[in-house]
Amino acid sequence: MRATDNRYAGERERFDLALRMIEHEARTGTIRLCTGFTEDRIRKISASYYPAHGTVRRRRGKSPSQIGPFVSSARRLGEASLLTGLFVRTGVVQLDRDSRALRASGAPDVVLGLGMCEAFEAYRALHPEPRLSFEWAWNLYHCLVSRRELRLAWCTLCEGPYVQDAYALDYERCPFCEVKDHA
Ligand SMILES: [Zn+2]
Repeated sequence: MRATDNRYAGERERFDLALRMIEHEARTGTIRLCTGFTEDRIRKISASYYPAHGTVRRRRGKSPSQIGPFVSSARRLGEASLLTGLFVRTGVVQLDRDSRALRASGAPDVVLGLGMCEAFEAYRALHPEPRLSFEWAWNLYHCLVSRRELRLAWCTLCEGPYVQDAYALDYERCPFCEVKDHA
């Protein structure tokens, strides 16, 4: 493949990723980080591909950055745990040697964007009532790999993996066993 073809392929890939992220209602800033496109260009793509698109709302401002919604109930913890397992599967996060903390596979780029889209789409397909938006998935990713406020843990009852608040003591029970216990 000639260098010009390579460049074209890269451009096409970034463009397709931008469209895919726009469909998931990702914020302009998040799309910019993964595609390298300017915010102006992303707004133009959004406007030309989704003119008067009522269902794709452009979100402004910063991404959410709290862990509360991931740990506030067993149900939420279950959703965050599923999504985290999918992050490992698509390779956007890697297990550290102690297999508890997770780290980023690389800097924000097309590969990260594609992996996030794959994980988010699988989560939407697998969960009966998915409530986390793409931006919340993006926030979960940062809680795991940058801020390290969440980590992976293994349930003492069923040995299943789940996401744990790194700074709070829990009973080392996964959300699924927790729900069963209170049923
Ligand atoms: Zn369990």
